[in-house]
Amino acid sequence: MKTYKNCQSCGMPFSKDPEKGGTNKDGTKSSLYCSYCYVNGAFTQPDFSATEMKAFCIEKMKEQGFPGFLARIFATGIPRLERWKNK
Ligand SMILES: [Zn+2]
Repeated sequence: MKTYKNCQSCGMPFSKDPEKGGTNKDGTKSSLYCSYCYVNGAFTQPDFSATEMKAFCIEKMKEQGFPGFLARIFATGIPRLERWKNK
């Protein structure tokens, strides 16, 4: 199985995730998604589209003190992540 350095839902690096990854239904770590996006085998924002996730992440990054233009650059990669590829 392919391993990723970033969450395949929001793009956050796993190194920045306090839990180092989300959790699958069986309690194992997810190698695809971070702990903010994926808990116990389910997405925390199941109804999000890639566009909504982009807007959500930009807001979150700004809350954490990122300049808006950097947050937007970072968020442009979100629609190419695994979760959104087939949508
Ligand atoms: Zn995530």
